[in-house]
This record gives sequence, structure tokens and C-alpha cells, in this order.
Amino acid sequence: MFLPLLLAMTIDGDAALAHASRLAALGPHPWGSSLDNAAAQYVAGRFREVGLQDVRLQAFERGGHAGTNVLGSLPGTGAETIVIAAHHDSAPGAPGAYDDGGGAGILIELARGEAQSTSRPRRLLFVSFDAEEGWAHALPLAGSRLFVDKLGLDARHVVAMLTIEMSGWKGGTPTIHPIAYADPLRPGAYVITPAWLVREILAGTRPLVPPLALGDPYISWLYQPVVRTAQVRLYGDDQAFLERGVPAIMASDSSFSAFYPDYHSPKDTADKLDAEALARMGAAVVGIVQALETARPGPADPDWLVLFGLVIGRTALLLAGLVSILPLLLSARGVGAGATLLRLVQAGAFGLLLWRAPVPVAWAFLLPNLMAPVLRRFWLRLMVLAPFAGALGLGLAAWNRGLIAGTWFRPWEWAIVALLVALALAPISGGRPATKAGRGGRAAPKPPKPPVTGRRRGLPKRK
Ligand SMILES: [Zn+2]
Repeated sequence: MFLPLLLAMTIDGDAALAHASRLAALGPHPWGSSLDNAAAQYVAGRFREVGLQDVRLQAFERGGHAGTNVLGSLPGTGAETIVIAAHHDSAPGAPGAYDDGGGAGILIELARGEAQSTSRPRRLLFVSFDAEEGWAHALPLAGSRLFVDKLGLDARHVVAMLTIEMSGWKGGTPTIHPIAYADPLRPGAYVITPAWLVREILAGTRPLVPPLALGDPYISWLYQPVVRTAQVRLYGDDQAFLERGVPAIMASDSSFSAFYPDYHSPKDTADKLDAEALARMGAAVVGIVQALETARPGPADPDWLVLFGLVIGRTALLLAGLVSILPLLLSARGVGAGATLLRLVQAGAFGLLLWRAPVPVAWAFLLPNLMAPVLRRFWLRLMVLAPFAGALGLGLAAWNRGLIAGTWFRPWEWAIVALLVALALAPISGGRPATKAGRGGRAAPKPPKPPVTGRRRGLPKRK
């Protein structure tokens, strides 16, 4: 049912590129500068021109720096609201064609398209934020945080928020970025896009070719557990909403494995952008917004894993985890009290850690748990260590780029991870030992010689 809707509206890549070029032509326009104000005025002018209603400037001051958010809306049949955003300030020293002139260009052209239709189920609130790059004054997201503060009780009408970041690079792929951000109310815990929002977005954008990527077009399966293990320094204005309990997501055509080379650089100029890439990103944004207009909000489940396009929530992850320890426990039967005890410890530690962090823990241990009784020990060890090698590789590469700030796991949780790995590697029970001597066979105890005949003692031979 979404295909005709998707085809009904397209974003003009050339028009989006023209907006990005105009913003970048200002030169660097960081928060608080007079050029930043000119960028806000440009967006406000386009918002009025394309037919948005109640276009207004939301002026603010933080830390002695003046800023301006630009707002415009289209009414819905009820009070429920979808916030769609980009930001018009640039990083200091960067013209910001890609970050976030491309996003602002798509936002304006999306507003133009949406203004054509006369009725919609939910109100659309278009916002171009200032001070997204407020990190330069140690006040990141000053504009969006102020906006969410000012929403007050109206925040309960906001069903979801989408921010369009870093768009229009030829080498990019439209990607949604669910990033774990520190929860201001629970020290050490994080907030993240809820499962229902990811489910609705993926369902609503299914007709896209190529499909919308989640986290990364190539290593989504690695991105998802890593972002819940390592604290990533990347963020967008979605963070300001998630911090206050409003479901939000960021979309961009940069990702870890294909990252725009002129990010936050004086070379981030309009000639690096591509109209076709903007149209491609625009199509993804149209699909996301149409999904949000009819999305049915669910519980705020932060624990979900997308595999083969399927969003697996917390309950399913916990159930799968429970099932995965059964073969382990059964394999310890009849091997001895020591083995049974170790397997029980392993099951308990796994269960505790699974409860705390279902996504990375199920991702790392579920398959080895299931396969332990049947795999040869060499392959089992490979299966236990491979996820850690992969996650460590990505983590180190990200850390090398300065993108890692720490870990979401507490020291005692890392201790349990180490215990679980040790127990999974240890030759306790089950786990078919490696063949004969040679590869992988060193640590494995010699298998008992099988009886020469298949005949069991005391039983009559059967044909
Ligand atoms: Zn940005």
C-alpha cells in the first residue's frame, strides 16, 4: 500500500541542491555568527514560500550566544504531531554544504511537497534548528534542547521526531541511525529509538531501492550490538528529543563504512554534493514521513535487534536466550556434578547479563549456546570468539577516528562477559572434541574410544 504513496511524492534533488548551495555560499556560519542568522532568515523565507503555516523564528540565548530556530507547520486532523528537522548552523570553519545544508534543502523541498496535500492525519511541524554544532561552545544541541524545553506539555502530542542530517553525498546510502545517548535521568543508562519506531520506518520504506540501511549499509549486524556496548560520540538533534522521552531518529547518507570525507572541513562545499544523491535521500525521507503519519506507537522498548529486516524486540530476545541455554544444560547431564555446576553458573551469568543488555548479549552468545553440544570444539571456539573479534575491530576503528567515548557496560558486567567467554571456551561437557590430534585438538580431552560394534551390552542384537 505504500508503493503508490511513495511514488506520489518525490523530492527535487536539484532544488534541494540549490538550497544547500545558497547556505554554503554564506561561508562558515556557526551558531551565534551574523551569517548564522542569515541562514535562519533564508530557511524562514523558503518555509513561507513553499506554503508552510505559522512560520516563525524562535530566538534564544545560551551561554552568551544568540541563536534562532525556524518553525513552520501544516495542520493535521488531530493534535498529534510529527516533528521533521534539520539544522542550518554549520561547524566553525566549515561552509556546511553537506552538514547540514543538504538536510535543510531536503526539509524545504519536503515541506513544498507536503503543503500540496490538503489533509493529513497528523500535524507536521518543520523545524530548522540552530546550534546543533554548539559543541564548539560546549553547548551541543542548544537549539533543539531549548525547543523541547519550550514544548512543555505539548511534547505529549509529538508522536515521533525525524532529523535529516548530512545528506547529498554521491558515495552515500540513505541510512537511519539509532544511536544510544546517555539518559539524563538514569546515570550509566542510555536512551535510544524505540523498537516500534524502527519497525514502522522499515515497513514504510520497504519499497525503496536500495532499501533504507539501519546504522550501516554493510555492517548493520555489527553496528547494532556495538552501539549498545560502546558510547559513540556521534549525535544529532534527535538526542534532545530522546533525552526527554520523545521517540526520535536520525537519517543521513553517511555511515561508518562510508563516511563523507569533508565532514566539518572548510572543503565541505556545494560542489561536493550531488542532486541525484539528494533525490535518493529525499525519497527515503518521504517514505519515513509517510510511515510516521500513520504509525501506531507502541511501548518504549529500547532493546531490539534487526535481522533480515525483522525487528526482534526485548521479549523475543529474552525468550530466545532462555531457549538457547537448554541444550547447554542438557549436555551436562551425566557428565558429573562439577560440569553440571559450571553449566548452571554459565546459565545464571548468561541470564543476568541477557536481562541487562539483551541485544549485545544475545548477539554474542546465543548461537554458541545453541551449538555447543553439537559443534566440534575448534568451530565452537571460533563461534565464541568471532563476535568479539568483529566488535573489537569495529570498536578500535571507531576509537581511532575519535568516535568512542567509553562503554555502556559497567566493570562488573565486563567481568561477567569474561566469565561467560571462559566458560564457553572451557571443555566442560558436550562440545564434540576436535578430531584426533592436530588442529584444535590440543586442549581437548581425548574422546573415549567408541565401542567396536554398535551392539549394546545386555540387549539383543537387532536387524
Ligand atoms: Zn549536522
